[in-house]
Amino acid sequence: MDKLNDGAISFRKKDFDKHKGLFGDLSNSQKPHTLFIGCSDSRLVPSLITSTIPGELFIIRSVANIIPPYKKGVNYPAISSAIEYAVLSLGVENIIVCGHSNCGGCAALYKTEEEMKNLPHTNLWLELSRPVKNKVTQMLPKATNAEREWMT
Ligand SMILES: [Zn+2]
Repeated sequence: MDKLNDGAISFRKKDFDKHKGLFGDLSNSQKPHTLFIGCSDSRLVPSLITSTIPGELFIIRSVANIIPPYKKGVNYPAISSAIEYAVLSLGVENIIVCGHSNCGGCAALYKTEEEMKNLPHTNLWLELSRPVKNKVTQMLPKATNAEREWMT
């Protein structure tokens, strides 16, 4: 935790002042050009891999990069509301859906119920990708899990 606190203090002292104009402009509004949808994986850093600065990307992240099918009136429409806001309110010009290699979420899709029993919410979330898993398993019945994960 000290690393994060020290990082926040360092950012405030060094980087924030260096980019004061940018952050000043962004303090009143945002006009991102792109909705970036990616996995929650800590190794995926959208601004780093797209060479963008604050204010350019509106970002949605989820385990295994899953976007639930659209359904009106769901109880907790976090992802739907983020897409809706990006498109209808912010008017983004682009939508990028960015997968990545060695995705733990995609790998978990091929684990057994027993292996997932300690992650009930993750397991429930991954159920949204069950049709993808079924299709990949059907297309590649003799593939290893690693090969299936790549296709997922
Ligand atoms: Zn992932």
